[in-house]
Order: sequence, then C-alpha cells, then structure tokens
Amino acid sequence: MDENRLRKIPSVDRLLGEPEALRIVDLFGRPSTVDALRLVLSQARCEVLEGAEIPPVDDLLVRTLHHLESRFAPTLQPVINATGVIIHTNLGRAPLSADTRTAIEMVNRGYSTLEYDLEGGHRGQRTMHAERWLCELTGAESALVVNNNASAVLLVLAGLALDRGVIISRGQLVEIGGGFRVPDVMVQSGAQLIEVGTTNRTHLRDYALALDGRENVAMILVAHHSNFRIMGFTAEPSIAELVTLGEEHSVPVYHDLGSGALLDTTPYGMMHEPMVQESVQAGVGLISFSGDKLLGGPQAGIIVGKAQFVDPLKRHPLARALRVDKSCLAGLQATLVHYLRGDATQKIPVWRMIAAPLAEIERRARRWRRSFRQAGLSAEVVGGMSTVGGGSLPGETIPTKVVAIGCESPNRVAEYLHAETPPIIARIEGDRLILDPRTVSSDEDPLLVQAVVRAAPGTYESGVDP
Ligand SMILES: *Cc1c(COP(=O)(O)O)cnc(C)c1O
Repeated sequence: MDENRLRKIPSVDRLLGEPEALRIVDLFGRPSTVDALRLVLSQARCEVLEGAEIPPVDDLLVRTLHHLESRFAPTLQPVINATGVIIHTNLGRAPLSADTRTAIEMVNRGYSTLEYDLEGGHRGQRTMHAERWLCELTGAESALVVNNNASAVLLVLAGLALDRGVIISRGQLVEIGGGFRVPDVMVQSGAQLIEVGTTNRTHLRDYALALDGRENVAMILVAHHSNFRIMGFTAEPSIAELVTLGEEHSVPVYHDLGSGALLDTTPYGMMHEPMVQESVQAGVGLISFSGDKLLGGPQAGIIVGKAQFVDPLKRHPLARALRVDKSCLAGLQATLVHYLRGDATQKIPVWRMIAAPLAEIERRARRWRRSFRQAGLSAEVVGGMSTVGGGSLPGETIPTKVVAIGCESPNRVAEYLHAETPPIIARIEGDRLILDPRTVSSDEDPLLVQAVVRAAPGTYESGVDP
C-alpha cells in the first residue's frame, strides 16, 4: 500500500515538463535543476512513507526553486550598515563613490591601457596609474600602489631594511586587528626590531641612544596607534623631531599612517587625524596608508615619499607579488579625482557620512520613526554616537541621532534582520535595537524601513500610541 502511494509522487521527467520547471532550468541550468528535483523528490518520498499527503506539483517546484536559490546565493553580498561605524572592516570598509564604481565597471568591460603607452604605442608601466595624482595631492616625489597597507609595510621593510635595524617605540608595537601585529610583520620582512622607550613614554633621546654607536640602522618606524589610545602620562617625539634626528644619522623616517587622511577631520568636531601631506611636509622619507580607510577608495596600500626610497621598491620582486589589478587602479584614480576637484566631501561616501549635518540625520531618523510607529513598534529618536572606525581616530565619536526600538528579544530581531535581502546590520544596546542613519545611504531608506517592519512581529515590544 505504501508502494502504491509512492507511485503517485510525480517523476523528475514529469516535473521537468512543467512550465515553471522550464523557468527554473533557465535560471539555474538543467543539471543543477535535475539534481535539486531528485533531492526534493527523495525528501517527499520519506515524508509520504511517514504518512504525509502526496505533495502537489506546485509545492515540489517551489521547494526546488528555494533549494537552488539558497544553493547559488553568494556568501559575499551587499548589506545595509545601520551600525553608525563608518569604516567597518567586517562590512567591507569604504563604500565607493558613483564615479569610482563607474570607472571600475568601465575598465572591466573590455581591454584597457593597464600596461600600454598610447603615445609611444608600446608597453607601459602599470605603476604609473594613480601615482602622478598621489604625488600631486600629497606633495610627495614618488608613489607606489600595492594590494593593501599590510603589504605596503611588508614591502617597505623587506625592500629597505632586510637584515638591518628598524627603530620603533615600545608604545607602537601594536596589533591593528585581523592578526596584523607590527612586531610580527617586522620579523616576516627580515628586518631587525630595535625597541626603544616604554609603553607610555618614549623620548627623542631614546631614539638618539639607539642610533649612536649602531651602524646598521635602516630606518626609524613610526606606526599610527590605530585603534587604541594611550592616555595620561605619555610622551612621544614629534615626526619633525624624528626627521631631524634621522637626518643627522642619514636614517630615513617611515611613517605607517594607517588611515591616510587627505582632509582635515577637525571641522567635523573630531580630533585631528594625522594627514599624509603633513608627514610629507615634515620631510618623512616614506609614508604608507590604506586606500579603503579615510581615503574612501578601493582596497589598496599606498606608499608615498622621496624617490630615493620609493623608486627601488617598484623594482623589488615582492612588488610584483603584491601588485594591484586594473579594478583597483581605475577605482583609485576616480576616487583621487574627487580630491583634485574638491568635491570629496560631497561625493566620497566616507566623507559624506562624516560631514553629514546632524539636522539631516535627525530628519531621516524621524521619518524612520514615523514608519515604525505606524507599524505598531515602540520607536524613539535619541542622541547617539557614530564612530569613524578603521583604526582611525580611536575613541573619537561624531554626535548623531539614532532610532531606538524597544524589543522583547533584540537578538532575535537582529537575526531576522540578518535574514532579510539585503541583510540589515544594527546595534543592540540593552533591550533596544539601535539604527543610525549616518551610515545608511538615503536610497536604502525604504528597504531598511520595510525590513524592520517585517522582522518578526512578536519580537518587538508592544507598540506605543503615536
Ligand atoms: C589598518 C592599518 C594597517 C593595515 O592596513 P590594511 O590596508 O588593512 O592592510 C597597517 N597599519 C596601520 C597603522 C593601520 O591602521
């Protein structure tokens, strides 16, 4: 009798004849569709043996479609960042400007002048793209672009300090995150670490003492503390003082700036983030920074400085291993043009978010609140703090307005929001879900509002009367 019931389940061939199945084949290809149908049918057989009804054809095809959709869903996908952390490393750091995205799309559409000199009609240099503009913007003599700033640090040390000493303050032997530890990278590069000073205080004379009586010193490394801050009884010599000391010993200073600001952060109510131009001005020999932190462009490591130090790195074998692709160079050029034209704070998302006026953020927060309340949620607009992130400006915050939603189980709401398309990433504070409009692009507003309203009735607190 079971056998008879099983025979009523349609076959793979029978299902493949359905118009809906043809649509699925169009989307996912025949072999994958057949595999998925087999899987769905074998599950259906088990269910029927356990006493379930014979599933209708429509139902089997819907299950097949869902199976294939989840099988082919990319794991790397866009999300809406409502955390208020502008340069969020886990969420892909800097979103790109429209011009940058277009430039990347254009260069990938066909062939390009990646290594072709149109004027001469012969082989050109990949390294020249973006580098002239980097020099123009920073005042440096020479520039080189590599895969990321971690590889820039590796290249500088391996290229210029192999088996030679690199002096660094004990206060700067930091772990930046994602396993990047300054002392470990130094070991990998073949440079010899010469630690000076103490965790909280390092003086010019500590550097001077290390230089005196040592022959084989390649450079003084100054590393940005990145995501932590030493407070209280602290001391560090200025970059200019170190440059002067280095010059007396013919030893260059290498400044690992990390975030690489080309614009001043103080007009936005934050501490001053060290700028690339300032280090160039101070006479630093080599400077490196990321392309996707405060520069606001694609992932890259940018090295600028004096030609005598940067140019040899372009010929180093590691430079070939760490080189960037055409997408990166096209995107970087387009991002740099914003700085040259002076429209960075309007066009580069990272800077637009930093510069967003509080009144505008509050207006959007109020609109979100209205929609949330109409859906019966208990939502309020309250003051909050956005952060820059990405290792820049540690501890610094930008006043913002957030929407706080009361929840019975905030973790479950967060889970539902993660399952949305696109997923929404929010912050949880106590029993409230916090959504910061600063890091949400305004064209994402409707998607965010719909997703929050949809997310699991019953997991929010019962609504208030608007
Ligand atoms: C972020 C950072 C790095 C690493 O840069 P990536 O571009 O992430 O490789 C290195 N040094 C400092 C000081 C940083 O802040």
